[in-house]
Amino acid sequence: MKAEVSSEPHERKESRDKVYNQVEVSKKDRSIAVERSAEVKALDADYFAVKDQIPTGFKLEEEYQKSRKRILQVLGGSEEDWDSYKWHLKNRIGKVEVLERIVHFSDEEKKQIEKASKGYRWSISPFFASLMDPDDKNCPIRMQAIPSILEELDSSEIKDPMIIKYNSPAPLISRLYPDRVIINVTNACSMFCRHCLRRKDIDYKDVTYPRRLLDQAIEYVRENEEIRDVLLTGGDALSLSNSQLDYILTKLDKIPHVEIKRLGSRMPCTLPQRITPELCEMLETHDPIYLNTQFNHPKEVTREAQKAVDMLTKCGVIVRDQTVLLNGINHNPHIMKKLMQELLKIKISPYYIFNCKKVEGIRHFRTTIADGLNIIEHLRGYTSGMAVPTFIITAPEGRGKTPIYPQYLLNPNVDGEPLIRTWGGHILQYPDEHQPNGSPNGIMGNEE
Ligand code: SF4
Repeated sequence: MKAEVSSEPHERKESRDKVYNQVEVSKKDRSIAVERSAEVKALDADYFAVKDQIPTGFKLEEEYQKSRKRILQVLGGSEEDWDSYKWHLKNRIGKVEVLERIVHFSDEEKKQIEKASKGYRWSISPFFASLMDPDDKNCPIRMQAIPSILEELDSSEIKDPMIIKYNSPAPLISRLYPDRVIINVTNACSMFCRHCLRRKDIDYKDVTYPRRLLDQAIEYVRENEEIRDVLLTGGDALSLSNSQLDYILTKLDKIPHVEIKRLGSRMPCTLPQRITPELCEMLETHDPIYLNTQFNHPKEVTREAQKAVDMLTKCGVIVRDQTVLLNGINHNPHIMKKLMQELLKIKISPYYIFNCKKVEGIRHFRTTIADGLNIIEHLRGYTSGMAVPTFIITAPEGRGKTPIYPQYLLNPNVDGEPLIRTWGGHILQYPDEHQPNGSPNGIMGNEE
């Protein structure tokens, strides 16, 4: 019988076997690894026990379909209408008599809604209304959309936490940072979030600012060569028509020092039908564009949002999330973790968690800085690093975003080495690099 001769050169086989052997570990090492794996798994046992009970947009698809049918009936719309963002904008729900045919509330609540809505306009896109639980007044979607009497009872006096008047060097411009500015292009939104910090600008009528003011804002950008990043927001930047947006983006593209444009829009969450092929085709001509959106609960991460984000990413728009930390809605580490994981599934990158600002009418949504830190503690290490946004508090007097982190560096110099706390709670000395004077990185060396 003829022996089989391997055609593989001897040296290549040897080197391949060496790599295989490196992957193999001894029984003892394997058993240590198995123990360690069990240890890290146990660290998040609380979350694993509840994660499947947290409602998400994908799990609730059937309920959402039923609500859609009910809302179409109430508003006299067709399935075709449901796919049209213009229909949703035209049919925003802003009357208690209409809302009570979609979700259930008592006569007392009805009176309270009417009373509370005197301070701040309310209006809900039929799409966002279809995500509401008709029977649960604590539904996180309802709490974000329906006026609460608690708004009326809040007597905090802060109406403009950003002190826009001190930060607006030109019409429609807000400037808090060296190399970027905001242009506030409209006060309109597909729905008026109850926690909105810009509620003082929302007023009772949708306004798109005149071209004269937009041109002055763009002129300011042109005259200030250090501005490389321009955010169009409001309100919601996607409340503008495609041609209005195209006009502004084209002008910005002609300014050589503007490197990137950003759009601030909640519509991927609250009215995903706004993301149309025509919009995407136009945005693609203004590359690079980033879209910062806002999802606050896993129930908002829907099939429709996924489709919208897919369309945006295919035309090169990068979508990132800025969640607001809201008492009673998401101030819970498990809910926040699920939200971040659901966002990654539909290719939205978690960017910020904002502490809710102190603005008149939204006190009941505010939590503490400790709540925010606790959430970050339960994200870092416990889930993908990409699912860990930066926790931000906005400094008083319009002084900008301030990142707040849990403390992992316990003591920068214990016996010449820093002491660290790992995400899983181990306290360890870290072998830092030493500079010639003997101190780690020369930072803590004794001064002579
Ligand atoms: S979409 Fe944004 S600007 Fe509009 S109401 Fe909601 S938070 Fe405010």
